[in-house]
Amino acid sequence: MSASKSLPKIVVFSLGGTIASTDSGSTPRGVTPQLSGADIVATVPQLDRLAVVESISVRQVPSGDLTVEDIVELSRQVEQALTSGADGVVVTQGTDTMEETAFILDLLVRSERPVVVTGAMRSPGSLSADGAANLMAAVTVATSSAALALGTLVVLNDEIHAARFVRKTNVSSLAAFQSPNAGPLGWLVEGRVRLAMRVAPLASIGSVLHRPLASVALVKLSLGDEGRIVRCLASMDYSGVVIEGFGGGHVPAKMVAVIEELVGVMPVVLASRTGSGELLRETYGYPGSERDLLARGVWSAGVLDGLKARILLSLVLTDQPSRSQARDRFESITSSIAL
Ligand code: ASP
Repeated sequence: MSASKSLPKIVVFSLGGTIASTDSGSTPRGVTPQLSGADIVATVPQLDRLAVVESISVRQVPSGDLTVEDIVELSRQVEQALTSGADGVVVTQGTDTMEETAFILDLLVRSERPVVVTGAMRSPGSLSADGAANLMAAVTVATSSAALALGTLVVLNDEIHAARFVRKTNVSSLAAFQSPNAGPLGWLVEGRVRLAMRVAPLASIGSVLHRPLASVALVKLSLGDEGRIVRCLASMDYSGVVIEGFGGGHVPAKMVAVIEELVGVMPVVLASRTGSGELLRETYGYPGSERDLLARGVWSAGVLDGLKARILLSLVLTDQPSRSQARDRFESITSSIAL
């Protein structure tokens, strides 16, 4: 009793995903998210040595069924747990959308205490199940003073990634999570947390709680794209769009007029479909180049990939209905990611 009093308190919020998935034996066969937060925590009795763990089951769903609204609400619960005495928070969920959900938490949770998102690439019943090890690693990071003031972290496969950089890069590998622009911030070895670098503080986003979220489309361009999908967006119920263009931020010349027209209707953000590197600003000068598009009022995603730029655009448009204020906020956040 007295020993547990000196242990840090960690709250685990569970949302489902492979880490919570088992085969119930009913048809259709296949694993589905059925384990509660308490079930998941109970599979790792070694956690008792590290922390007093409280579990809260929020959802038991595949992560593709989560919404931005769900995670905005989760950010409120996470913040509440941290202000009510938790030393850190761990979120368990499916890996399919983890790079987006973790970034939402990174943008919204205002606390220096660790928030760590984890999951599993293999379900608990499989020979190579990784959920228990990932949960142990996530709780270890959440209890570490080295993890203070790093924003939201994603911990899988004994690697510690910043939410703002991490991407799921493989369908099934245990090493699916990578941070192409920065590499992992650190790793775990023999249960020790090792941080090789720290991230800069993110500029704050304002408040989006209890507001209807601005809906933002994400469109990836392909060879020979004539812009038929992009043309439709103006008449659809979107408040903004992120276009994943070619290379450094390019579109076919024949799409320029369509994009210019769309800029008159809603904010248009340009990202790179390569998924890594920072968008160019002043290299190419042909129609449809990054210089050309930026001069026509398109915003740059900077170092963010399309998925993360879509999250950021939705949240800034929700917080700042005026387009110029939303743009200032969007740019101050993208430029705070890499100084
Ligand atoms: N389909 C699962 C999900 O995202 C995959 C996983 O958890 O790894 O819910």
